[in-house]
Amino acid sequence: MQKEETKKPEWVPQNNNEAFASFLTSSENKTEKNIIQKPQKSVSLSIEDYEKGILLSDRVILSRAITLIESNSAQHTEIAQNLIEKILPYTGKSIRIGITGSPGVGKSTFIEALGKYLTGQGNKVAVLAIDPSSTKSKGSILGDKTRMEELARDKNAFIRPSPSSGTLGGVARKTRETMLLCEAAGFNIIIIETVGVGQSEVTVRSMVDYFLVLLLPGAGDELQGIKKGIIELADGIIINKAEGDNFYKAQITQASYRNALHILSHYVPDFIPTVSIASAITNLGIIESWAEIEKFLQIVQQNNFFQKQRQKQLLDWFNSLLNEAIHLSLFSNLSIQSNIKQIQQDISELKINPVKAVNLILKDIFKN
Ligand code: GDP
Repeated sequence: MQKEETKKPEWVPQNNNEAFASFLTSSENKTEKNIIQKPQKSVSLSIEDYEKGILLSDRVILSRAITLIESNSAQHTEIAQNLIEKILPYTGKSIRIGITGSPGVGKSTFIEALGKYLTGQGNKVAVLAIDPSSTKSKGSILGDKTRMEELARDKNAFIRPSPSSGTLGGVARKTRETMLLCEAAGFNIIIIETVGVGQSEVTVRSMVDYFLVLLLPGAGDELQGIKKGIIELADGIIINKAEGDNFYKAQITQASYRNALHILSHYVPDFIPTVSIASAITNLGIIESWAEIEKFLQIVQQNNFFQKQRQKQLLDWFNSLLNEAIHLSLFSNLSIQSNIKQIQQDISELKINPVKAVNLILKDIFKN
């Protein structure tokens, strides 16, 4: 190929030398490197593009679809709901696991160890989070995106932090729908993580097949600040950080929880939750935890509890969709909004009592 310096310029401006000359370059000489690309705005995708991308397990498209689900704009919600309907036939085949525990108990370390073991066994694992703190403020108990770094680099894993705003009900609906997208994208194990500090564990329990509570060694006797209610939601309990001096303590804690479970009620009838010990940093008990989960799933599939629970979860989903839709359609109505504001003012000025006020608002709504 002829070198450019030896080429004769097509045009040289008057009173200037060849440095200012213009050479015509044939398009064949352009390589991708020397074409300056304008930064592209992300192209908008049709529902069919989303569907196809998700079914092909395209992570970029999956992430974009989740962003649509998390969006609070009415237009995005409509596309997201249409998309969910399209991909529903490809969902439901994964194992859904919920994991909870106090901040610092080792949830992310444990999930990373378990996740790596599972992808090593040929599984595709998605980890989603529900962080009750992030629904109220920007601060987050579950932390930022630097958690589970190794698992995040694994091509068979997908980690998505909590939607950062909304009510717990809204976040729950978004997490449930994100789980469905991940299932359609071929993830066969979904782990939903939450902090055991409020209502979020009840929410997570209502969307998974197996619910695991992580605890620390040595605080068994006072049920370590974790409410009895959370223990009663568990299918399995793991005493984490059971290495070194803590190993013996963990065994004592294990024994006291095993005793306690005999007197507490259980989420799955006729199944006493297992209590195991593990160390997420030394990988102790990780394979065994998975074996417990598989054993549990076999039992609940045989006694039909699994199928019944999935049916109930469909109803829960319907209920939360219905609540959200009613809420949205009412509170986006400007006249209702202003009436509510007025009534709130009247209540604070003791002009009307709350019971009467609600009746007035209801009358107003049904008149519309
Ligand atoms: P999370 O807040 O429940 O997600 O807890 P993290 O996974 O972030 O862990 C909190 C701290 O405990 C980190 O410093 C971890 O390295 C540490 N940690 C987690 N698992 C273990 C364990 O099995 N043994 C010990 N000794 N430390 C652990």
